[in-house]
Amino acid sequence: MSVDHKACPHTDPRDRRNFLGASFALTAAAAVGTGAFSEVAYADALTKAQRDKLTPDAILALMKKGNKRFTSGQMKDYDYLAQQRASAAGQYPVAVLLSCIDSRAPAETIMDLRIGDIFNTRMAGNIENGDVLGGMEFACKLMGSKVVLVMGHTSCGAIKGAIDNAELGNLTGLLAKIKPAVAATVYTGERTSKNYPFVDAVARKNVELTIAGIRKDSTVLAGRESSGTIKIAGAKYNLATGVIDFF
Ligand SMILES: [Zn+2]
Repeated sequence: MSVDHKACPHTDPRDRRNFLGASFALTAAAAVGTGAFSEVAYADALTKAQRDKLTPDAILALMKKGNKRFTSGQMKDYDYLAQQRASAAGQYPVAVLLSCIDSRAPAETIMDLRIGDIFNTRMAGNIENGDVLGGMEFACKLMGSKVVLVMGHTSCGAIKGAIDNAELGNLTGLLAKIKPAVAATVYTGERTSKNYPFVDAVARKNVELTIAGIRKDSTVLAGRESSGTIKIAGAKYNLATGVIDFF
């Protein structure tokens, strides 16, 4: 997916001085060195200074803007090879995501993000456990990320499996962690995996319970949230429309 930097018509470095659509032209001019490489390196990866300046709310707003670019077909003309080079020496991701393994819901693509912008944890049914929390604590406490975003999606196979009480090897145990969301979903109508509105209602409840679990099981993250250092938020991606609904 790399773009030939020389042959590409969109080589103006100003096009690349953006993080999720936010212009950093002024700081870029002040911070970059005089060499061409440092200018490209700066433009293609998030710096610590840029990340540290963003508030959790600003980060969520930029994610929404990225999803708007995705749904409107206005995605940025990213040079992934340049991003790989620019980010190789260090990373300053703004957020840590927990989303489903579903092949149709890749967060980086549907939010129009670059290499290095976010940590991405993918678990079937976006459930949390101690290992997931360990990664989130690493991201937020040691690496400086400011948003924890749990993202479910419509027509989720894991949610359907939990509704159907499916059993298969290790999957049985995973689905057991989603079943409390099935039970907690208030829904008057057909409570089956064939009824998509019910499946999607459970998906939303599952995100809410996952967030509650993160707060309960991680004193590190809960503490950072109550001090206002980070924000823990939920969202649901609609496979049919491409739109992410931020709660
Ligand atoms: Zn799923």
